[in-house]
Amino acid sequence: MQLLSTRNINLQKNALEAVLKGIAEDGGLFVPSCFPKISMETVLEYAELSYAKLAAKVLHLYFDELDEDALIQITQKAYGNFDDTAVAPLKKLNDSEYLLELWHGPTLAFKDMALQVLPGLLNAAKYYTSNKQKTLILVATSGDTGKAALEGFKDAPGIDIMVFYPNEGVSNLQKLQMVTQEGFNTHVAAVKGNFDDAQTGVKEIFADKALNAMLNQKGYALSSANSINFGRLAPQIAYYISAYATLLKQGGIKAGEPVNFVVPTGNFGNMLAAYYAKEMGLPVNKLICASNRNNVLTDFFLQGEYQSRREFYKTSSPSMDILVSSNLERLLFEVTGRDESRVNRWMSALKEKGVYEIDGDSHKKLMKDFYAGWSNEERTFRTIKDIFEKYRYVLDPHTAVAQAVYEDYLLKQNDPVKTVVVSTASPYKFCADVLNALGDLPKEQDDFSLIQHLSNVSGLNTPKSISELKHKKVRHTLIVDKMQMKQTVMDLIG
Ligand SMILES: *Cc1c(COP(=O)(O)O)cnc(C)c1O
Repeated sequence: MQLLSTRNINLQKNALEAVLKGIAEDGGLFVPSCFPKISMETVLEYAELSYAKLAAKVLHLYFDELDEDALIQITQKAYGNFDDTAVAPLKKLNDSEYLLELWHGPTLAFKDMALQVLPGLLNAAKYYTSNKQKTLILVATSGDTGKAALEGFKDAPGIDIMVFYPNEGVSNLQKLQMVTQEGFNTHVAAVKGNFDDAQTGVKEIFADKALNAMLNQKGYALSSANSINFGRLAPQIAYYISAYATLLKQGGIKAGEPVNFVVPTGNFGNMLAAYYAKEMGLPVNKLICASNRNNVLTDFFLQGEYQSRREFYKTSSPSMDILVSSNLERLLFEVTGRDESRVNRWMSALKEKGVYEIDGDSHKKLMKDFYAGWSNEERTFRTIKDIFEKYRYVLDPHTAVAQAVYEDYLLKQNDPVKTVVVSTASPYKFCADVLNALGDLPKEQDDFSLIQHLSNVSGLNTPKSISELKHKKVRHTLIVDKMQMKQTVMDLIG
């Protein structure tokens, strides 16, 4: 399928080329030229498939340059090392609420759902376009993307990967996961600054013509594994369709019955994938966008003004500590009826003044599909405790933000529609905060004793990928200033 840039609809690439490029030359994001429709009949057929097969079918709607078998090979490899055969199991919490667990991959966060697939898509793209260049994947991470990308791309032939993470912005375990990364082609650096600093630095490298020319000379082309890459977005659409199909199969809903999705949101990739599923015809009532104390999106949805110049807070849900949600641009493109000129105007205002205001019509359209809310730290912690006491189910802090916002929504709207809360991380990734929330944090213990303690308290098995970290060697110790990111990339290529 042809994709187009959100800033120039005449700038088109097919989906595979778009995966190779990551971001469009004009700084826009690639979006599908149309949304392929899926009927209820198709969803019913999907309900009988394995997750890998279902995902391949959904991907094929966008990557129709590849045959379905090639895509099945990619998804079977990607989801083969998940620790639950359902891949994205749906857990029933009560009569109206379900949790979609997206953290059964190797790094215990939902990023694996897409980042295990992306290397396969990228390789297929290179093959399809007879591209012989080496690829340098650049990633800015708020914690989970970095590790998931490193795991996805490690030892991939013809590909190097460089991850920048904010020195002070990730959890101990997230840091440990990255600095112990194995693989001959993996590179990791801490940036002195927050996630937005790291992301801005990476965006500047992509836009730097001289640097890109130099890389080309050395036989390299840059690509992105951040959620602005369409190859990240497309695999995420699949689990919304899978969740709906599973609900149908389990008898939780009738064919055609609308559901709500609640998504703990940062860069807006996950939430946007739900919106795309709705545009494809999946019956959705409300898309509920949940934020933590960095509630820039809540304000945006309520007021129609995006104000990024505000205080930045570090929270217990670090993967949502974001002030500029890049993927929102794709939503703006759709709600303006694909009006590139408005998108351009707002994006330059955001760059120059840190703020833009959308028109009333677009705002009204947004509010038809979306509800937005946020949860502070105290409330998030209380939610972890409440849900554990009520259901013996342990939420991680990101998912707890979503749960809290859903509870607020229920109080305000009294909406009986069946609801899927998207669970984005294993509680084991955030042991100290989770135990603290449960009122059971032992004093002066290291991360690994806490992991054992959480296992005792919750009765959940400790995932292998986390217990084995203890014995891994630290292999990446580089710390750089944000001004040095470019130099770091040049040093890597040599
Ligand atoms: C990345 C991440 C999020 C935010 O997802 P976006 O697609 O960036 O909005 C939420 N929770 C966890 C655990 C994450 O890793």
